Amino acid sequence: AYVVTQNCIRCKYTDCVEVCPVDCFYEGENFLVIHPDECIDCGLCEPECPAEAIYLDDEVPDTQQIFIEINAQLSEQW
Ligand code: SF4
Repeated sequence: AYVVTQNCIRCKYTDCVEVCPVDCFYEGENFLVIHPDECIDCGLCEPECPAEAIYLDDEVPDTQQIFIEINAQLSEQW
């Protein structure tokens, strides 16, 4: 699944949400997350993100690994 990372925090764009064919983005107050079981790995959102905050789970940088868990948890809560 794709994962939303740090640069998304307080980003005002929602271009990623608009292109997602399965509506698997969940929105908090200043951050978006992707539901890992609903994402179909189409990759459409990644180039749309102006903050370059979206990565495929296998490609999340070392410093951002915590966001894999954050996306999984918050997408269940929101
Ligand atoms: Fe949605 Fe596709 Fe992005 Fe997954 S990769 S969040 S399905 S747009």
